[in-house]
Amino acid sequence: MPVNRSVYEEIINELGPRGVTLVAVSKTKPASDIRELYELGQRDFGENYVQELIQKQSELPDDIRWHFIGHLQSNKVRMIAPFVSLIHGVDSLKLLQEVNKQGAKLGRPISCLLQMHIAQEETKFGLDKAELKEVINQLKNFSDNPFAPIHGLMGMASFSEDLDKVRQEFKTLKNIFDDLRSEHFSGDPRFTTLSMGMSGDYLAAMEEGSNMVRLGSLLFGERVK
Ligand SMILES: *Cc1c(COP(=O)(O)O)cnc(C)c1O
Repeated sequence: MPVNRSVYEEIINELGPRGVTLVAVSKTKPASDIRELYELGQRDFGENYVQELIQKQSELPDDIRWHFIGHLQSNKVRMIAPFVSLIHGVDSLKLLQEVNKQGAKLGRPISCLLQMHIAQEETKFGLDKAELKEVINQLKNFSDNPFAPIHGLMGMASFSEDLDKVRQEFKTLKNIFDDLRSEHFSGDPRFTTLSMGMSGDYLAAMEEGSNMVRLGSLLFGERVK
């Protein structure tokens, strides 16, 4: 399945002027697809599975910025810690502390996004507002996690035809992001990233304030698994 080059160019033209970063989600797709986009200039790629990410990272150029966007188990952080660029799915204090521990061992700060649960579906991972507050309170001051700096938030909207609902969920996430930044991260220039929007809803996400979108099927075609 070839990469959709013209769609890629269009998306880059849409995102670039707005300052939105494109993460090309390459899960289940072969390294050759990634290389094709790489040759067009794409550097940020997103993967969901640890083994698959490690395999691809070993085959592909070193200047790729790998985003881990899946659900990450604490016992696997160690495996991606040496090279991962941004972990989007941090949804517990335990996981954040493990990232910090592995980063400290390597002397390499590993950037994290806290994942918020904004969809109505039960199945989506992430923190609710109360849990976010708890994580933030437990961190007390942010020198607790020098090797797992928090760069912002990530969320997934409901898989729904109802774009009003989806838009409302993005609005909610943007509000949480703004509040958190002003209340807890106002002096921290790293807290800037709001990762929201996928192939089906990224335009709405951008309108609601996203500055990082994660697009898979639009670029690489539908996934079989
Ligand atoms: C798979 C995945 C995407 C990309 O989904 P598409 O609908 O193919 O664009 C984005 N974010 C996360 C967290 C994913 O798991």
